[in-house]
Amino acid sequence: MKNKLLLRLIISHLLALFAFKVGVSSITLIIFIFFLILRSVGLTVAYHRYFAHRSFKTSRFFQFILALWGGLSAQRGPLWWAAKHRTHHKYSDQPGDPHSPHVDSFFTSHIGWALKAESMETDYSMVKDFKKYPELFYFNKFHDLYMLSFALFIYVMGATINHYYPELGTSGAQMLVWVYVINTLVHVHLTFFVNSIGHLFGTKELGEYKCERDDKSGNIAWLALLTAGEGWHHNHHTFPYSARIGIKWYQIDLGYLFIKAFEKLNLVWNVKTPKKETLDEICQLNALDKYIHKV
Ligand SMILES: [Zn+2]
Ligand SMILES: [Zn+2]
Repeated sequence: MKNKLLLRLIISHLLALFAFKVGVSSITLIIFIFFLILRSVGLTVAYHRYFAHRSFKTSRFFQFILALWGGLSAQRGPLWWAAKHRTHHKYSDQPGDPHSPHVDSFFTSHIGWALKAESMETDYSMVKDFKKYPELFYFNKFHDLYMLSFALFIYVMGATINHYYPELGTSGAQMLVWVYVINTLVHVHLTFFVNSIGHLFGTKELGEYKCERDDKSGNIAWLALLTAGEGWHHNHHTFPYSARIGIKWYQIDLGYLFIKAFEKLNLVWNVKTPKKETLDEICQLNALDKYIHKV
C-alpha cells in the first residue's frame, strides 16, 4: 500500500480483533478505565491546555513531566501536537485548518488529515517557544520509541499480574490488546471527535461572546465527559487561552480540576481563566491573534 500511515491505521484497528482470542477479565477492564482517564487528562491538560495554549505556567521539570504524560496519548510528540493545534485555531474552519469538516470531508477532518505524509512533519515555526528546550525537542523526535516502551510496559504488567495472581485471568497479550491497542483507538477517536463532530454539532451557550469569525464549534456534553472537558469546544474556541474549558457550573471539566489541584500543590501557577470584565475587549481584539501565541 502506498500510504504507510493508512496501512498503520487499518492494522491497528484489525489488531483490536485479537480481543476475541485473548478474552477479557475484570482486572484488565479496571486498568483499561484507569488508562483511558489518565490519557484523556494528560492530553487535555498537558498537550492542549499547556503546550498548545500556555493556559498556565510551570517549572521546566514539571513541563517535562507534562510532556511525558501527554505523550501517553499516542498522538505524536508535544511540539507536533501543539503546532498542529495552533494552526487549527489560527485558521479555524477556513482553508489552512488541518482538520475542518467545513473545508474537507468528514473522514479527513476526523482522521484522514493525520494520514497525509505532510501531516507527520512538525511545523517548528508554530512552536518556537518550546522548541528551544532540548528535552522537548528530542522527546518530540523520538516519540515512537516512547510509545513502544509504553506498549512493552503494558505487556509486562499483564504478564507479571498473571504470574503472581493467575486466578485474575489476565495475561500479557490480553493487557496489550485491551489497555494498549483498544484503549488507544477509543482515546484517539474520542479526541478526534472534538475536531470532527465538535465543529459540526453542539450548543453555543457562550454564543454571545463569540470571538472568532464565523465560529462553528459546539459544546457536546457527552463528549466532554469522555474527554476530561475537551467536548466543551465552543467554550474553548471562545476563550482559547483559558485553562478552564467547562465554564458554567454544570459543565464538568475534569482537566481543570487537575490544574486546580496542581496549582494548590504549587506545581503550576498563573492559571488563566475567562475574565468577565475584559470579555468584550478580548472579543474585539480577537482572542485568536492576541492570545494564542502570547508567551
Ligand atoms: Zn476546534
Ligand atoms: Zn485549542
